[in-house]
Amino acid sequence: MEDCIFCKIIAGDIPADIIYRDDNILAFRDISPLAPTHLLIIPVKHIESLTEMQDAEYPVIGAMVKTAGILAEEEGIAEKGYRLVINCGAQGGQQVPHLHMHLLGGRQLTDSLG
Ligand code: 5GP
Ligand code: ZN
Repeated sequence: MEDCIFCKIIAGDIPADIIYRDDNILAFRDISPLAPTHLLIIPVKHIESLTEMQDAEYPVIGAMVKTAGILAEEEGIAEKGYRLVINCGAQGGQQVPHLHMHLLGGRQLTDSLG
């Protein structure tokens, strides 16, 4: 997807602080962090949002969650706790139309869900 900013990060066309990658997943630091640890975990395949998922693509969600847990350990936030968020669509607050999971931690998060 040539206009997709996250696909450009995957391709190396724009820089990002990448901290994990495998054949299916990329994780990098959010450019505008909302917490001491704020990572974005994305599928390498361009999937626009949760509403665009095909049945065969759901395993990548499990891989993203598993990777989030590993990265939370590496970031030293697993014990105190953290939050995973997937925004979906306009009213869900999704700004980048490439499926992504936020991993937030390192401070006390509020109980507000918006
Ligand atoms: P959304 O609101 O779509 O759930 O989250 C998109 C996130 O992507 C935002 O937290 C925003 O700061 C982050 N973001 C947008 N553009 C870039 C970029 O070019 N590089 C990085 N590292 N993060 C970005
Ligand atoms: Zn994309």
